[in-house]
Amino acid sequence: MRMTIVTSAALQRIGTSATIAMTQKAREMKARGEDVIVLSAGQPDFDTPMHIREAAFEAMQRGETRYPPIAGIPDLRRAIVDKFRRENSLDYTFEETIVCTGGKQVIANALLATLNPGDEVVIPVPGWVSYAQLAEFCGAKPVLVETKLDTEYKLTPEALDMSITAATRWLIFNNPCNPTGAVYTRSELSALADVLTRHPQVMILTDDMYEHIRYDGIEFATFVEVEPSLRERTLTMNGVSKSYAMTGWRIGYGGGPRALIAAMEKLQTQLTSGACSIAQWAAVSALEGPQDYIGESRAAFEARRNLVVGRLRSIDGLECPTPKGAFYAYPSCAALIGRKAPLGKIIETDEDFALELLATAKVAVVHGGAFGAGPNFRVSYAASTREIEVACDRIDEFVRSLK
Ligand code: GLU
Repeated sequence: MRMTIVTSAALQRIGTSATIAMTQKAREMKARGEDVIVLSAGQPDFDTPMHIREAAFEAMQRGETRYPPIAGIPDLRRAIVDKFRRENSLDYTFEETIVCTGGKQVIANALLATLNPGDEVVIPVPGWVSYAQLAEFCGAKPVLVETKLDTEYKLTPEALDMSITAATRWLIFNNPCNPTGAVYTRSELSALADVLTRHPQVMILTDDMYEHIRYDGIEFATFVEVEPSLRERTLTMNGVSKSYAMTGWRIGYGGGPRALIAAMEKLQTQLTSGACSIAQWAAVSALEGPQDYIGESRAAFEARRNLVVGRLRSIDGLECPTPKGAFYAYPSCAALIGRKAPLGKIIETDEDFALELLATAKVAVVHGGAFGAGPNFRVSYAASTREIEVACDRIDEFVRSLK
């Protein structure tokens, strides 16, 4: 007799990650032999630098293959302390750091360890797909604060202030922002910090994963650096995935108050234990070894940004602002809503647009609705110049074919 699997109420509250669902769909089409260009996954197309891969190999040869400590191997936690000091002028101690299986686990640990039903989590949108979903999983209420193109998709102090209530537990803040590419200046952060100072019940999770991917010489700053008094209620999150082309190694980390880190560690003892030992040794080499990759990849991404933005802007019906960081373009397709796609479907939402684009033009992107606002779509330009060019040709042709 077949049993019906009844999923938990918590699981029923969330959907599958849209970035992953779209990429999975595109991978399956590719496996069937279809010529799909995948611009849905946000990951550098570069290989992990050789010295990092070698460090992993050496770790395996030394026999670093057993359970690592839950919060991370001491060498990596020390490298994280150094990184925060060197690059962000932050003075986290060893005990104030934690290593997790990807940045996603840093966020999940923090939210699962602190949220109760009825709590509110402020999330500027468009914002990364998993923030709101993870908050919902915890039984909390995501409070989506819409940012607009006329403020470069940046959260304003007024909007932040209005979104906070007595029930607010967290602000999840992503800088540079996935998907909009917004990068906050020091003075913008300082103005937001002033608001947060007036609301001592709010903790801040700052997702700095795209710290090194910035253009036009724009600077990076993070909350605690700008307003040290927020240190006791901020989790500064980062990872090696984007900065060192290490998405598959699954190493994210955080710096935060000791009690929060201890709570996250406690949860991790029950969930995943320590992150992969070999990947942790690779991450030590990433943080402490030569840093040339960062500058080289940034230059490559900047050239691709210029290419993709130029091409998308030239397409009648799309509006594409210039991202200042991360590796995504986020064009608006508002002018195309209501048109008919070649396979007969009327495009009513940005999801329809993305699905028809995939079906007809074989280009995988992620619809803006998944990021909490639209109608837009996200194009990852962490792909080769050739792929970007062909993808833009196809998007152009697809948009022209809409009636
Ligand atoms: N952060 C990446 C993205 O937005 C990775 C995929 C994911 O985990 O959502 O595409």
